[in-house]
Amino acid sequence: MLHQNLNTNEKGNLTICGYDTVDLAKEYGTPAYIMDEDLIRENCRIYKNALEKNFGKGSIPLYASKAFSCKRIYEIAKEEGIGCDVVSGGELYTVYKSGFDMEKVFFHGNNKTENDIEFAFDCKLGYFVVDNNEELEEINTRAQKRGITQKILLRITPGIDPHTHKAVVTGNVDSKFGSAIETGQATEIVKKALNSSNIELCGLHCHIGSQIFECDPFTDAAEIMIRFIKKLKDTLGYETKILNLGGGMGVRYIEEDPVISYEENIDKIAEKIISYAKANEIALPTILMEPGRSLVAASGLTLYTVGSVKEIPGFKKYVSIDGGMPDNPRYALYQSIYTCMIANKATEKADYVCTVAGRCCESGDLIAENTKLQSPKKGDTLAVLCTGAYNYSMASNYNKIPRPPVVMVSKNRKYVAVARETYEDLMRNDL
Ligand SMILES: *Cc1c(COP(=O)(O)O)cnc(C)c1O
Repeated sequence: MLHQNLNTNEKGNLTICGYDTVDLAKEYGTPAYIMDEDLIRENCRIYKNALEKNFGKGSIPLYASKAFSCKRIYEIAKEEGIGCDVVSGGELYTVYKSGFDMEKVFFHGNNKTENDIEFAFDCKLGYFVVDNNEELEEINTRAQKRGITQKILLRITPGIDPHTHKAVVTGNVDSKFGSAIETGQATEIVKKALNSSNIELCGLHCHIGSQIFECDPFTDAAEIMIRFIKKLKDTLGYETKILNLGGGMGVRYIEEDPVISYEENIDKIAEKIISYAKANEIALPTILMEPGRSLVAASGLTLYTVGSVKEIPGFKKYVSIDGGMPDNPRYALYQSIYTCMIANKATEKADYVCTVAGRCCESGDLIAENTKLQSPKKGDTLAVLCTGAYNYSMASNYNKIPRPPVVMVSKNRKYVAVARETYEDLMRNDL
């Protein structure tokens, strides 16, 4: 199976964390997101222990909560002793309401609004990750008005293209995020932050991309950042206390994707970082990482019910499900590949090549093409695996379709973490 928490039982049904997915579909209805709380917690611990082991206390993972944001996940992150990052006022509101330690919350985004900034002050946000000059000025002015000093990191663009596995010096300089080292803008914004009366510059941040299975892109980025830190020390006398390396470690969506160990990867990355810091004669900063999908993606799957099975002679076969782009827009957006299976025939041979289509009035509403299923029939339960990240959080109400519930399962209990939306919910704001 794709992940260790998935299996099949004596009925030939797919199980997650020991629960029969066909039973879950009956109990909670379809479509439904199922998430394995135990696996989420295990992943949190792997990151937390690996960072602490290599870099000492204070080096923690920050859960990049755009991957999956709701009250419950912040409670879990809090219980696991990790921090988190948010990218909007709405995520900030949710984490605040969940009772999170706001000192461990980092606020990202390339265009925080004035309301976002004021609201963050109200919540006593720990850190802004400041993207640009205008934002720096805005935060400083508003902090001054409140008579407070605000802690920040600066988002820096190291110029790494993670998918060429190399530092391509200009490759990623052209980005809507952050200030590039290459162009000199990074040094300028550091100077500006150091000269801002109500800003405490605590360190630097970079995020090079997503779905990265190798270590090299991370160590390349870290090397560039450490050289930059050295330069700041030599030229400005500024000592960087925190280096946040962002998120992006890969997740296994299909059998062809590699199996990686987050612990081993962190160990390898740490070894290089420690040696770069030595070579550059700088004190090792507190290292933070921001895993999003690698904490939650594998824990999730989505259950649907098969409606029609349409074979167009000489063309394709379409299997229609009772969800689609409103609950998982990732195939429609960027052809993300997922593993699909008929949950009630999980031990049978998957040799029915077909397109899995959603129910929206949109021909692009597909979940998979050329995927292999176990001879699908109306009424079957179809599972799409590894949907714990960027599914619920990217869901919409297109075609006035209510969002599915999020059901959490763990060894000792199962419960609804987010209720299924109702038709009334869909009209709540209609005046
Ligand atoms: C999206 C994002 C992450 C998480 O990325 P994953 O690929 O989900 O791990 C972390 N940091 C920042 C700044 C991001 O934008």
